[in-house]
Amino acid sequence: MPTKRRVQKKQKKRKRKNQRTQRTDPSTKIPQRDIVKFVLKESLQKRKATSQKELVEIIKKGLRKGDSKYSITGKRARLIALQTKVKIKVNTRHGPVPNKCPVCGHGLKRSYSKNLLGRKVLTGLSCSRCRYHGTEGKWIPSRYSFSL
Ligand SMILES: [Zn+2]
Repeated sequence: MPTKRRVQKKQKKRKRKNQRTQRTDPSTKIPQRDIVKFVLKESLQKRKATSQKELVEIIKKGLRKGDSKYSITGKRARLIALQTKVKIKVNTRHGPVPNKCPVCGHGLKRSYSKNLLGRKVLTGLSCSRCRYHGTEGKWIPSRYSFSL
């Protein structure tokens, strides 16, 4: 007889499977990375994107000249942009301290200073792979801008 835990595990598996099938939804097509890189450069030559949403919109617009089914998520667009020479500016807001870089997932370098009571306080987080940099409690990306 399956234990409760095993049933939950099974349900989790099913959920993951559903997510996978969603990704192969026949009404949308996932563009290859090189195509996205090409469209990204071409689009940003015309104008910069002042948010991740805007970036997705201009990429989709470019992609759909090739195939109207092409689609891309904000996260994927950002991660591909990180692999190119596109300059990414990240504004941050207050929020919990992340374990990994919230922009690219890489490890973070922490900087500390001592407060008046001599306690160690986290004053900065920076990523060695991308341009993410948080200071004074503002750790969470709030707005991105992308330009060439
Ligand atoms: Zn990063």
